Amino acid sequence: MPKRESFLPYGKQWLDEADIQKVFQVLESDWLTTGPMIPEFEQKAAEYVGAKYAVAFSSGTAALHGACFAAGITKGDEVITTPMTFAATSNAVLYQGAIPVFADIDPATYNLSPDTVESSISEKTKAIIAVDFTGQPADYDAINDIAKKHHLPVIADAAHSLGATYKGKKAGTLADMTMFSFHPVKHITTGEGGMITTDDPVYYQRLRDFRSHGITRDPSRLAKTDEPWYYEMHSLGFNYRMTDIQAGLGISQLEKLDHFLDKRRQYANKYTSTFASDPLITPPYQHPDTNSSWHLYVLKLDQSLDRKEIFNKLHAENIGVNVHYIPVYLHPYYQRLGYRKGLCPEAEKLYEKMITLPLFPKMSEKDVGDVIKIVTSLTGGITK
Ligand SMILES: *Cc1c(COP(=O)(O)O)cnc(C)c1O
Repeated sequence: MPKRESFLPYGKQWLDEADIQKVFQVLESDWLTTGPMIPEFEQKAAEYVGAKYAVAFSSGTAALHGACFAAGITKGDEVITTPMTFAATSNAVLYQGAIPVFADIDPATYNLSPDTVESSISEKTKAIIAVDFTGQPADYDAINDIAKKHHLPVIADAAHSLGATYKGKKAGTLADMTMFSFHPVKHITTGEGGMITTDDPVYYQRLRDFRSHGITRDPSRLAKTDEPWYYEMHSLGFNYRMTDIQAGLGISQLEKLDHFLDKRRQYANKYTSTFASDPLITPPYQHPDTNSSWHLYVLKLDQSLDRKEIFNKLHAENIGVNVHYIPVYLHPYYQRLGYRKGLCPEAEKLYEKMITLPLFPKMSEKDVGDVIKIVTSLTGGITK
């Protein structure tokens, strides 16, 4: 018999009656897509993070693809990023025919190490994609300094860090373009969905074009304006549009974001204050410049502990732990492209001993207590 009766997943959405009513309203309106919910959601999200512009996409992955396109990344270019991320980050580089160059992580924060970014720069480098791993913003002062020196744009993969801050500034304003995801395990959800925020009007226009076939109807950009049906395709875009149904849900979810963040931070603090006294586990280090939005809670296990055994035992007790992430270049597809084990030793070392605990705003204090009780019973317990 498992100690916990029901399965506790590592992450999950929180929808309420207001969300459902909002979606119903959109379904009954004239617009299911390309309607008024999209600019409203974009404006509210831009306002929330403090950016000038926001462009909604059908997914975070599509948004990243859009950012790579807008940054001018093309065949043969190199883009520096971290291997400690979901595959979508570097896949977006591959979509543009470019080459992901994996720089190693900082063993303390698990984020991209600025030193390895700098030493990875070549004549072909066209951009840097930082990832705010688990919700803690990367070291943007150092990364932006390197980028400026080499005239490179910085794209932030902030799929984990909506609501997080770095030196008091919110994720969404820390890089030239910032991507958010609204997948159900992320901070707010639209089912599937994503967004780019930027302050740059040129990127803004390219992102909007790219999202909708590269087509524009803006009279100031058309060769002629005397035919009312006339429009032009200027670049090879995609249909990466978010629907109004999704945007309506996003607007309603955004109103609860601060409450969701409070819960995530409260639970993460509870985990950390308990696990800090267990010599066999290392809670996630938090840099004083950052205030994480805690998408994931990742423990590092001592060398003496067997991760697979602990993972299996926790699942047997209905604690839905997970592992984030397998270093991207170790996947068979990337191995076929020629990447090899040993490329980023710190990321590989962390991967061997990391485990993600359940963390989402809808879990209860009792759920948090269950996780703590069962984890500490497996690691030998609290000794201090
Ligand atoms: C979720 C996620 C993505 C992709 O977002 P989708 O909305 O699922 O396409 C990209 N990068 C990271 C780090 C993510 O966690």
